[in-house]
Amino acid sequence: MKKIKKRKINKKRIFAFLISIFIILFMTITISNLQENHVTKSAKTKVIFICLDGATWNVMIPMVERDELPNFKKIMRDGAYGNLSSDPAFSPPAWTSIITGMEQDKHKIYNFCTILSGSTEVIQVNSSMIKTKTIWQILNNFNKTVGINNWLMSWPPLVTKGFVIPSWFATSNLTYPLNLRKELNENIKIKKINATGKNYRKYYLNYDDFWLEREQIETDRLILESQYLIDKYSPELYAVGFYFTNNGQERFWKYMEPEYYNVSNEEKEKYGSVIFDFYKEIDKFIEPYVNNDNITLIMVSDHGMKGFRNQNIVPGDHPHVLWGWNYNKILNKLGLLEFKNNSDEIDWSKTKAYYIGGFFTKHGININLKEREKYGIVEQKEYDILKKDIAKKLLSIRFTNQNYIEGGSTRLFNSIESNSFPDIVLEDYFRFKWGGREKVYNKSIIINNEIYALKEFVELNTWSAEHEINGILLMKGPNIKKNKLISADVIDIAPTILYLFDLPIGRDMDGGLLTQAINEEYLSQNPVNYVDSYDNEEVKSENLESISKDIKEKLESLGYIN
Ligand SMILES: [Zn+2]
Repeated sequence: MKKIKKRKINKKRIFAFLISIFIILFMTITISNLQENHVTKSAKTKVIFICLDGATWNVMIPMVERDELPNFKKIMRDGAYGNLSSDPAFSPPAWTSIITGMEQDKHKIYNFCTILSGSTEVIQVNSSMIKTKTIWQILNNFNKTVGINNWLMSWPPLVTKGFVIPSWFATSNLTYPLNLRKELNENIKIKKINATGKNYRKYYLNYDDFWLEREQIETDRLILESQYLIDKYSPELYAVGFYFTNNGQERFWKYMEPEYYNVSNEEKEKYGSVIFDFYKEIDKFIEPYVNNDNITLIMVSDHGMKGFRNQNIVPGDHPHVLWGWNYNKILNKLGLLEFKNNSDEIDWSKTKAYYIGGFFTKHGININLKEREKYGIVEQKEYDILKKDIAKKLLSIRFTNQNYIEGGSTRLFNSIESNSFPDIVLEDYFRFKWGGREKVYNKSIIINNEIYALKEFVELNTWSAEHEINGILLMKGPNIKKNKLISADVIDIAPTILYLFDLPIGRDMDGGLLTQAINEEYLSQNPVNYVDSYDNEEVKSENLESISKDIKEKLESLGYIN
């Protein structure tokens, strides 16, 4: 039997050190190529592109009706707006589809994390793993400047003409060019938060208070930086991402609709308006750009959001508990995975399949395949049969009593075999549809003909909203139709932006130009140009960084990984 070495923290440190040296070298080379270590300034900004993660009409329409979002209302009147759909309704692939015009099977960003061939270590994805060209790269190739702030996958920077301020998800807080951070710090004063995640208890009554203050500071920072950067450098395309809409709605939805949830009056008072306040702040931020007739403003969300109350949940339940499975424990009971003597550590020499991570509606299981996996034991010839067998076994898991389940089915999973990464993609409806500790948590499930307490296999969260496919799209500008209801998909955004810059669209892009949003006259005078592909040259894929501790903590605090 192969001896398995335990991962050591100092090894990681050395790796992180080497990576940071590499990044510094990379930055130095890029910068010396540019010769000047300052931001390229362009004549004027043509497109302002804002992504509000998880923003939804479910919240915005009532606010518009109450006249609380006058600038959004103005875009609806003077521009085009409607649903922007994404499948999967999940941030990493959706944010990447937005900037590539490609579905996830082409751009290859499926999740926050991935696993490299020949390894068992889960690492964070980064922009160098995007396998197709982004609009940032295409615009730069045509000498257009691009400024990016807080875009989900924004490090290492894919921009040479313009600037990049990486997102919360980046493994580096360096900016491109390097001295931009210093310049921003000198020119913009941001309130400092008292605590880090670890010592928040010293300053805050609960995690929500800490989280809320941190996110509010972050939103203020993004707004001030955006105003400064657009004024000073006028990149031809300025793109900025906000995340409060996603994470804030997941956490605070229940206080916005207290009548559907178990919340106290005190909590309702304290948190009831935080979601509305965020949208109002964004509304104020966009005002000068909405009123500038030379600027095209494009606002999107990578997916929508809805409160659990919209779901057909078990009557009488208070659905503010989010459930997630501990898949490795289930695989263990199915005889596919072994733990080392009563610990959580996997014994790879006896493990045929393991949980590779997963977020929201789709979760993945990988086969511990020989040669591909570091400690692989499954022969290639067993692979297909084993995949089918695992899917069948998962589908056989049942609640002991069908009364708990909507529609009378006792099945917990819809299991899908996948031809991409990971080997088996699971659709896990249970996570969203079954709230309520009282009704379900103390029940039993049948795995491999044995009855177990369900709570052995679940982990709990306290969110009150979930992603949905329909997000938002708003467009206003000199060549955009007025008061026009449209509907689009996340893959249509990149081709549409290229067209607005008078640049050709890749024929291999899965999305297309949103002709429904463009003025007919402009469209007839400016026929669409195409190129076969922007991906003929090899897109570089290196600089794979190991998941860093601070990012892991951040993902944990957001509830995306356990
Ligand atoms: Zn998202």
